[in-house]
Amino acid sequence: MANPRVVSFLYSLKDPGGNLIDSTDDGEPFSYMEGVGQMIPGLESQMTALNKGDKKTLHVPFAQAYGERDETLVLEVPRDKFPVKELKIGDQFQVGNTPGGPPMTVADFNETTVTLDGNHPLAGVDLTFQVEVVETREATDQELAHGHAHGHHGHDH
Ligand code: ZN
Repeated sequence: MANPRVVSFLYSLKDPGGNLIDSTDDGEPFSYMEGVGQMIPGLESQMTALNKGDKKTLHVPFAQAYGERDETLVLEVPRDKFPVKELKIGDQFQVGNTPGGPPMTVADFNETTVTLDGNHPLAGVDLTFQVEVVETREATDQELAHGHAHGHHGHDH
């Protein structure tokens, strides 16, 4: 094939405890173009061997997924300096002047401090994907120019 492959697949994603983290439970496949970094590397490298109709369970260690946790990204902020009064664990905030930067997640809080975690929620987590490939095709020239796959049913942006 002249252009890279676009792979469309259904998946469910679980953590080592078997908790469901994410899935294509609406039945709409996820599509990606190979070789452009659209997918986590440890999943893409295993999926290059798969073709339409293949169903597999794939284990991706965190080093090939969202990386190790970085404890220097965990900050404690005085509660009275924090602009939001109603908090719950798991709330996400954009901090500082970094639009589009990774959000900080409220990891903990008490009367005096708020603990914010800038790690990706899946950093340090080994992932298990159950995948089913529903289509593979050659990327269109337009997709190649854009550097990403368009939707399973055609252009979607
Ligand atoms: Zn595009």
